Amino acid sequence: MTEEQNNGKPLDISVVVPLYNEEESLPELEAWIERVMQANGFSYEIIFVNDGSTDSSWQVIEQLKQKNQAVHGVCFRRNYGKSPALNTGFARARGNVVITMDADLQDSPDEIPELYRMITRDRYDLVSGYKQKRYDPLSKTIPTKLFNATARRVSGIKNLHDFNCGLKAYRRDVVKHIEVYGDMHRYIPYLAKLAGFTRIGEKVVQHRARKYGKTKFGLDRFVNGYLDLATLWFTGKFGGKPMHFFGLMGSLMFLLGFIAAGIVGAVKLYRMYHGMSYTLVTDSPYFYLALTMMLLGSQFFLAGFIGELVARNSSHRNDYEIETEF
Ligand code: UDP
Ligand code: MG
Repeated sequence: MTEEQNNGKPLDISVVVPLYNEEESLPELEAWIERVMQANGFSYEIIFVNDGSTDSSWQVIEQLKQKNQAVHGVCFRRNYGKSPALNTGFARARGNVVITMDADLQDSPDEIPELYRMITRDRYDLVSGYKQKRYDPLSKTIPTKLFNATARRVSGIKNLHDFNCGLKAYRRDVVKHIEVYGDMHRYIPYLAKLAGFTRIGEKVVQHRARKYGKTKFGLDRFVNGYLDLATLWFTGKFGGKPMHFFGLMGSLMFLLGFIAAGIVGAVKLYRMYHGMSYTLVTDSPYFYLALTMMLLGSQFFLAGFIGELVARNSSHRNDYEIETEF
């Protein structure tokens, strides 16, 4: 059922599916989602975001649209990545609950009713799937465990075991207030938390081996994943006030270097006045250490200052998330 057929009322569910070269899986996935929706009487839409596929995925989506009016498609001119695809789908979603799902049939649409219930009845903002039993190669499952342990620590979301699970459900507000860019789809729960949505839950979901096609992400996902986590942590903590980080580090280093240089100089003067043997200040290794500290300290301070100027110029500097007001 589409919104028009739903008497202008918002839809129950929007399913957002980012896809890149998944032609074989799409018909099966669409039919399965449709079956689940009808069995549960949900009004829904499916938004396929074709991320610049080079196979016939887009033609398949056009055919699906002929058959089912609840199907919507967005076609990127080139491949941008999963995060931009999700972000685009989120912007278009009209359902009260938004569910994301990979296109490769690894996630099961049978999970939809329970995810929907957790958002609407248990009042979760976001529910992430947890592929407790995975059907992926070991080269992927072991690094994934490590990755999730780090993400849990850094983000402080202690109850999540599977940050990057493609199957997730959101309250509509959440997807309208977060921006998923770059490769940040791995950290959507963290993005949601940073935006002030803290009721984050988890549901164990079935996972299946990839039936068609192959994975679109290699091992570089782990390197990039860690860098992105560092970025999020830093921008979340100091993004609006870089001076609090760089200024403190810089001042401390400069001060330490300054005192150390002072001591080196004072020792020399003391020995001179008391007729003892003395060496040039530049002969002391401590002098160079002190010098380096002062240089690095000023660099840090300057970085913080420039960061502040950048932050001050940001057009978002006074964008706050207001929940309600009267
Ligand atoms: N995907 C995408 N753009 C990309 C890479 C992947 O839209 O550049 C989609 C892909 O088609 C699939 C989902 O993101 O629907 C997850 O990708 P994949 O199954 O390759 O990842 P894995 O399951 O190996 O983590
Ligand atoms: Mg997959």
